[in-house]
Amino acid sequence: MANKKLQCNQCGGKMRIDSGGVTMIGGGAGPAPIVKLRCDKCDITRFEQRSDIERELAEAGETVGKKSHSTAMTQDQILQEVQGVLVDALGVDEDEVTPEATLMGDLGAESIDFLDIVFRLEKAFGIKIAREELFPAETLMNNPEFVSNGKLTAKGVAELKAKMPHTDVSEFAKNPELSKLPDLFTVGMIVNYVESKLKAA
Ligand SMILES: [Zn+2]
Repeated sequence: MANKKLQCNQCGGKMRIDSGGVTMIGGGAGPAPIVKLRCDKCDITRFEQRSDIERELAEAGETVGKKSHSTAMTQDQILQEVQGVLVDALGVDEDEVTPEATLMGDLGAESIDFLDIVFRLEKAFGIKIAREELFPAETLMNNPEFVSNGKLTAKGVAELKAKMPHTDVSEFAKNPELSKLPDLFTVGMIVNYVESKLKAA
């Protein structure tokens, strides 16, 4: 009784969602109520209710509605994409773009480059990024509650931790000098951020 909609009634082969069809599910415009299925073996196509297919896939332990690259991308693949983005945005060499490289210190990024980086990341990964979410430093630094004598206050450190869950700030927190804040913005930080966004997508 399981998977009957996903089984071809001609040859008994496995039906898969045909993403080439106009009724692709999980697309940008929102899920369509009908999905097109195509048989692996005999290539026959058939339309089914999305809800039926979702239920059967769920029973089979699979999920639908996620872009394939969102779920399938490894950290290494994300790093490669991020490298490409930073090479294009900053005009640096690819071998400079290591996970440990800091955007400002090592790669020479300036504040105005961040918007371009955000834009290129959005295009490369098909995700929405609030600049303030990826680079929260400016808002922190401009808030007197969070800054005192050139350092982040305890409140500021707590805010930083909350705003950068994809980054380990424990080392920085020991001596939270503002001048060291840019060192938190590394290539690896972007990779972690993108990974968390793709998982949540
Ligand atoms: Zn078939």
